[in-house]
Amino acid sequence: MKILLLGSGGREHALAWKLGQSRLCSQLYIAPGNAGTADCGINLDLSPTDFENIKKYCLELAIEMVVVGPEEPLVLGIVDFFANAPELAKIPVIGPTAKGAQLEGSKAFSKKFMMRYGIPTASYREFDLDNYAEGISYLETHPLPIVIKADGLAAGKGVMICHSYVEAMAEYELMLQYSKFGEASRKIVVEEFLDGIELSVFILTDGKNFLVLPEAKDYKKIGEGDKGLNTGGMGAVSPVSFADNGFMKKISDRIIKPTISGLQNEEIDYKGFIFIGIIKIGDDPFVIEYNCRLGDPETEAILPRIKNDLVELFSAVASQQLHTIEIQKDKRTICTIMAVSRGYPGSYEKGYPITGLDNPISSDSIVFQAGTVKEEDMILTNGGRVLCVSSFAETVGDAVLKSRKVLENIDFDGIYYRRDIGFEFL
Ligand code: AMP
Repeated sequence: MKILLLGSGGREHALAWKLGQSRLCSQLYIAPGNAGTADCGINLDLSPTDFENIKKYCLELAIEMVVVGPEEPLVLGIVDFFANAPELAKIPVIGPTAKGAQLEGSKAFSKKFMMRYGIPTASYREFDLDNYAEGISYLETHPLPIVIKADGLAAGKGVMICHSYVEAMAEYELMLQYSKFGEASRKIVVEEFLDGIELSVFILTDGKNFLVLPEAKDYKKIGEGDKGLNTGGMGAVSPVSFADNGFMKKISDRIIKPTISGLQNEEIDYKGFIFIGIIKIGDDPFVIEYNCRLGDPETEAILPRIKNDLVELFSAVASQQLHTIEIQKDKRTICTIMAVSRGYPGSYEKGYPITGLDNPISSDSIVFQAGTVKEEDMILTNGGRVLCVSSFAETVGDAVLKSRKVLENIDFDGIYYRRDIGFEFL
């Protein structure tokens, strides 16, 4: 089968690595990919949101399946675009329709969805310029901290946790009056702050059936000890010890099953991943957010733990036969550590040569590239998050040490990574 994978990050390198291992994949193309994905297939100079050109390539290359990495093409309706083009309608696209992608694309949509199906989440209100004054009164009596979220996609930056009323009022005004996130903050959600420990849960669904993939915990803060600015993710571990059978059953009964039946009830055609951001309060799970794709860097920690053939899983999604498959997980632990460029998540420079990628490493470790580009014989940094290392071990501590050991032999100007990923599980 000829497969086209859309995206260019570490998540896509992990997907490409896993798709490339499938006995069902005869040729993999990645658009646009990075220097790492070029080792798994052929990179195409093609934007994941340029649907017309994607169509052209799919027809020319006789693509038989499209796998979508990032959320943007999904929210923009790539699945609907394929379904509505007669020449493309037979090509399965792994991902939800634009309506389904609203679970991530609109916080207001996802909150209403959770309310309709009794899915536990933080209490909230929705505001825009039409009920602006009411929002001010709401904020004035809301307990601190106050969570303010832009409704739409804001490149992972649209959530503000405000610890004072002054800050909350300022954010409220910036988002609604001054379009801080453009169209994405025309509407906002004001939410109760949930205090607990976070967990990322991943579901693959064909719209009727679902499989629960390995769970992960990610580390968002730039600094060790979870200090400093938020990033796209500095590392992850999988499995997560507190996600035991009892807790996962609560997630399944209270969150996953009502989510799948809610989607069916609303006639939303959802064939793809659902990433559920969970917060554990006491012994109970609450939903912080839905995403309509896999997370990064969680993908780099969970995909190597899945023993199934990924193309077989995706084919079962397309034919709605997921109930015939059981997910097989490697019981070992993975720790993924992300190496970033100096300055990230603020401004940083690109174009520095990366050395040490050819060093021999143990079969327990994998290097996944994110912001990299190949120029002549060199691989250069090309983003804030540059590459990550995922390592298998029997314990979190050993997995961390193995990933760190690999990173010690990789270098680029301004390399930085957290040495304390998984610290609370040691
Ligand atoms: P999101 O962009 O929705 O993933 O949110 C980013 C991060 O903000 C989450 O991973 C949480 O750490 C935090 N967050 C979002 N909503 C809440 C909430 N209601 N209470 C506490 N933390 C939250």
